[in-house]
Amino acid sequence: MNDQPVREERAYRHVTCGNETLVGGQSFEVVSNPMSGMERTMCSSCNAMFPISEFEWSDTGESLPDYYARHSQNATDMQKLLCSKKFMVAVILFFVVLTEIGIYFLLADEEFAVLAFCLVGGLMIGGIIGMSVFISGFADPIKKKVCGVSDTRLLT
Ligand SMILES: [Zn+2]
Repeated sequence: MNDQPVREERAYRHVTCGNETLVGGQSFEVVSNPMSGMERTMCSSCNAMFPISEFEWSDTGESLPDYYARHSQNATDMQKLLCSKKFMVAVILFFVVLTEIGIYFLLADEEFAVLAFCLVGGLMIGGIIGMSVFISGFADPIKKKVCGVSDTRLLT
């Protein structure tokens, strides 16, 4: 559907200090995603996080808030909610609770130490399941629908 090569990195400028930061890898995926709900990002010169309103893309000169607004203008409030961090936390909690209940009932007859150990492990497993459900069931498909690309690193 889209044969454009995905670029690996892009530079943005911290307008306050005037210096550029090159973002790549997972940070670039998050920063380029208009639905990720970014509020602050890193300036490598200042070595600190600042509100996204202080940043612009070096190549286009467009501010990050304008870029996010432009690419998410077709998103409904429901889509924005389903991609939000609040919803992510809710999905993760749901699966953590579900996993804990499952472990509790499966291992109710085990010794307390075994049960406690598995319940602690269940926190992590439930968290991982919840996170992947959130990403592959909500954040990714909605992002694709709203932005029209499978990878937001393709957006300019
Ligand atoms: Zn800076």
